[in-house]
Parts: sequence; C-alpha cells; structure tokens
Amino acid sequence: MNEDCIFCKIASGQFGTEFLYESDEIVAFRDIHPRAPIHFLVIPKKHIPKVSDIQPDDEVLIGKMVAVANIVAKLENISETGYRLIFNCGHDSGQDVFHIHLHVLGGRKLNWPPG
Ligand code: 5GP
Ligand code: ZN
Repeated sequence: MNEDCIFCKIASGQFGTEFLYESDEIVAFRDIHPRAPIHFLVIPKKHIPKVSDIQPDDEVLIGKMVAVANIVAKLENISETGYRLIFNCGHDSGQDVFHIHLHVLGGRKLNWPPG
C-alpha cells in the first residue's frame, strides 16, 4: 500500500468504490471518465507503478488480471461483441495514474489505430 496512491486507496476500499470483481489480489471497477459504453479498470492490490516495473514474480498476477478482464467482460455482456485491453505505460502513452491498471473498453466499435 502506497499512502499517496489513489488506486491503492480504491483497492483497499477507502473510497467505497463499487467493485465489479474482487479477490484477495485484484479488483475491477468502472472508470470514472468512461471512453466507451463499457469501460472498467482491472488493478492488482499490490502497488506496481508501471508495466515496466513488473518483475518475474508478478507474472502470474498479470495473467490473472487478464483472466479477470474476461470474467467481468462476460458479466458486462461484451464477450461476444468484443472489447479492447490497454495498459498505458509511461509519459508518451498518457499514463496518469502510476499504479498499473488494465483498461477494458467495449460496447461500441472501437477505432484502430488508437491516437
Ligand atoms: P491512465 O491514463 O493512467 O492509463 O488512466 C487512468 C484512468 O483512471 C483514467 O481513465 C481515469 O478516468 C481513471 N481514474 C482516475 N481516477 C479515478 C478514480 O478516482 N476513480 C475511478 N473509478 N477512475 C479513475
Ligand atoms: Zn498504488
């Protein structure tokens, strides 16, 4: 837990955020500024600032994040229509929150390539 990190606070339940999924390691919740009809974030409870900080010991956890994205996508009824998983990493990607998070977007046709 990083006391200065907004996603650590969300993961610990401090803000009373509604979770779409929770386990001992991972939570998923809706993005506060959705960019698509369905837009949720999957985060580990462990504070890892950026994808480039992921260590070999974290690799199973990162795989579980993808599995959670699939579980919640099914709950949100976008499994058949499709969805996009995005990790922003660092300045040029536009990463704003330095606690890794997997964006899951769906519910409309998404443009490619992203901007
Ligand atoms: P990034 O640009 O770092 O990849 O994305 C951070 C995302 O977190 C943004 O889409 C932003 O809307 C979302 N976000 C930031 N603060 C909060 C918050 O307090 N609650 C929720 N639910 N989403 C947040
Ligand atoms: Zn954190």
